[in-house]
Amino acid sequence: MISKPKGTVDIFGDELKYWYFVEDTFRRITQLYNYYEIRTPVFEATELFLRGVGEETDIVQKQMYTFEDKGGRSLTLRPEGTAPVMRAYIENSLVKNGLPQKFSYLGPVFRYEKPQAGRMRQFHQFGVELIGSPHAVADFEVIKLAIDILDALNLHDYKLYIGNIGCKNCRPKFRKALKDYYQPKLDLLCSDCQKRFDTNILRLLDCKDEKCKPFQKDAPKTFDYLCEDCKEHFDELLSYLEGLNVSYELDGHLVRGLDYYTKTVFEIKHSSLGAQDTIIGGGRYDGLIEELGGKVTPSIGFAGGIERIILALKNENVTVPELKKCQVYIAVLSESARIFSLKLSQNLRDRGIVVEMDLMKRNIRNQMKYADRLGAKYVLIIGDDELEKGVLTIRDMETGQQVEVDEKWIENYIVEKFEE
Ligand SMILES: [Zn+2]
Ligand SMILES: [Zn+2]
Repeated sequence: MISKPKGTVDIFGDELKYWYFVEDTFRRITQLYNYYEIRTPVFEATELFLRGVGEETDIVQKQMYTFEDKGGRSLTLRPEGTAPVMRAYIENSLVKNGLPQKFSYLGPVFRYEKPQAGRMRQFHQFGVELIGSPHAVADFEVIKLAIDILDALNLHDYKLYIGNIGCKNCRPKFRKALKDYYQPKLDLLCSDCQKRFDTNILRLLDCKDEKCKPFQKDAPKTFDYLCEDCKEHFDELLSYLEGLNVSYELDGHLVRGLDYYTKTVFEIKHSSLGAQDTIIGGGRYDGLIEELGGKVTPSIGFAGGIERIILALKNENVTVPELKKCQVYIAVLSESARIFSLKLSQNLRDRGIVVEMDLMKRNIRNQMKYADRLGAKYVLIIGDDELEKGVLTIRDMETGQQVEVDEKWIENYIVEKFEE
């Protein structure tokens, strides 16, 4: 037997209702804000992620699925969604359509990590990108959109954290303050952080290692090092959040895993999820498009983890819409009844009824058993006698009641039953 690769799952059956609910809600709410999907390839040139995610990030260092194709190109399964959207924006010259440009995306992403709850090797993200606006009102729109999606999913136990990691003018000062703070403690940190000290010092603030956690509380906070421009931008954003009654908590240690963020960063965490509790994360990345070879174009976006959101839905016992079950099962008693049954199935499906018909050529007893297992609401029984008389028998599977209905009226009879 061939098994699925480690860190992947097969999604089917009753589990699907959660996926449909999240995906449908995401599409519905993003469209209300006029964001439409951009569908980019699942693999890209490796170079895109080296430049767009950052060579010193954990993703690029440890987690990418990189391979050479038969033509000798280095390709990588996308480990995140933003760099591909930006690549597509530049490559298709979408700036010609005017700014801002707004995109959403939804699909699988791939990271080689130790599989655990809420962290798979193939997992799924939805996200949006708002390209072209440097203003805090754009940050607000993206954050509010994220909140609206969670509210539409009927989630409650989440919290919004907002930070600001500065810009290329003020971040060096913050970095220096961090270095001064951590320098004397360097020997006490985990080995990863000892390396990050030189390459990616911001990440010391969100290291999960027990050795490093105690030092995080008193570390310098980003807010104390912002330049005038960053500070103004931040205050403006907070004034919108307050004006619209969006509750949030400030976090001066909020840094994100990717290199490209500037100014606003935010995370939405769900209280039921333990260590992997971020369900949506995002921020502003004013330098990314330039990094990828385009013109300087300020942008902001977020990504949400669908698996984690589904866990949160289950933990909060949110009722999600059930998948439509088989509504009518057509039991076929004879070969001559089959064509009539196929036609009737078609007519009912055309009117929106979920119909299944015998495909196994079973006897009536086994057909009834199967219909019961499907959870069919009604079974129609069609054989030679029925067709000769022009009267069909319909059985209500819940009550066990059988009635006879004239062949001419059967479609209307069934459609009306489901309109009740
Ligand atoms: Zn700044
Ligand atoms: Zn550490």
